[in-house]
Amino acid sequence: MSLFPVPPEVVAGVAASLGTDPLTLADLLRVANSPGFDRWQEQVRRTGGCSHPIRLTGQTVTRDAATGDVLYSYSTETEPGGMLRVACGNRRASRCPACAWTYAGDTYHLIRAGITGDERKDVPATVRDHPRVFATLTAPSFGPVHNRPDTGRCRCGTQHTEDDPVLGTALDPERYDYAGAVLWNNFAGDLWRRFTIYLRREIAARAGLTQSALREVCKVAFGKVAEFQKRGSVHFHAVVRLDGPDGPDTPPPAWATIALLDDAIRAAAARVSVPVPASAGHPARTLRWGSQVDVQAIGALGREELTEQAVASYVAKYATKAAETTGTIDRRIGEPAELDKLPLPDHTRRLIEACWVLDDAYPDRLLWRWAHMLGFRGHFSTKSRRYSTTLGALRQVRADYRARQERRERGLSEDLDDTEGSTLVLAHWTYAGQGHTPGESWLAASIARDLRLNRDTAREALADLDDMEVWA
Ligand SMILES: [Zn+2]
Ligand SMILES: [Zn+2]
Repeated sequence: MSLFPVPPEVVAGVAASLGTDPLTLADLLRVANSPGFDRWQEQVRRTGGCSHPIRLTGQTVTRDAATGDVLYSYSTETEPGGMLRVACGNRRASRCPACAWTYAGDTYHLIRAGITGDERKDVPATVRDHPRVFATLTAPSFGPVHNRPDTGRCRCGTQHTEDDPVLGTALDPERYDYAGAVLWNNFAGDLWRRFTIYLRREIAARAGLTQSALREVCKVAFGKVAEFQKRGSVHFHAVVRLDGPDGPDTPPPAWATIALLDDAIRAAAARVSVPVPASAGHPARTLRWGSQVDVQAIGALGREELTEQAVASYVAKYATKAAETTGTIDRRIGEPAELDKLPLPDHTRRLIEACWVLDDAYPDRLLWRWAHMLGFRGHFSTKSRRYSTTLGALRQVRADYRARQERRERGLSEDLDDTEGSTLVLAHWTYAGQGHTPGESWLAASIARDLRLNRDTAREALADLDDMEVWA
């Protein structure tokens, strides 16, 4: 018997119009016609349309702590397929667009709160009066690469188009310092840490203070993200802010100006270095920042300055991209032989191979383990403690909101704090797998798109309101 009471060419036509294939369409119809479809949609909506949700089976029982009465019980037995789906939480857009989008949004709010202040996130609006700059620190050159100079023509004689895949790759692969490039990525986090120490030193010197005297009057706050350039070198974008002695709540001293901060950043970047010892025939190196250091003032109104909004969007854009712009893969590589099976660009493959070659010489640097990241092992976004809120705090806000929603639906008190201690929750969960069937995937992606559209609209409306606040 045919699965469809319609001619196959009609099925193929419908599938094509949905941008899918007949098998996915068959699965999609199965899911949409199953009895628990509404609840399934609800579950997927709560994961934000996650493309690889974690599936759980289990139950929870909520009892009144005093009387022992069961207030509420829940079991996945009644759920579609007997399972509950929770978001995978992956940061990478290549793995899960929905969760990556949530992560980008969180990063945006985190960076923005540090620039504009946000009372809901315990950062006062007065940080707008503190000196704030957006700084970009890059890697040095490891050899000439194909580029698009202002003169039009690359050194190879070609006028490359904007999307030419050779851009950023070595002009002469035989002479390019691939080992230097991956070692630099590997130590980039150390270089950044030293830079923050030197920066405090340079600021103290300019204020005519000792470092401990500086701490008594001024704190330096950072929020930063890492981005991969096409050539496969990581670089950092950072918001740097000067606060008073007790962080964002206190005004910085009068000498703390944007000009002083700008000057101190450039001096610190020029001075800092990380030594790498010689090992197993590989030469000793001194790793430094590249000479291109960009520092721009962040302004509330955006006249001849970067606007607060632009900085936060810019930073969030990079939060979900790992090294994928270089054509590398987004997971760990097992054996070097695996490289033959991967469609890697030559430049990227040589960088990965350099990690393999150096791995034994610098075993504590875990170069092979991080070869898929071209040696970089740092975090993509980091911040100093008092910069703004934390990603964890933002996730908690969301989790609390959902918990409240669930409680309201079940007729329990919405106040999570109020009931604390008066109820007892016993939960037991078992991992039952991860991901969707092909039809579920298609539906989840369309749910993710809808959610995103709604939230983008809400986000824009919120941004408009914020702009009005600035002008008021
Ligand atoms: Zn996900
Ligand atoms: Zn070229």
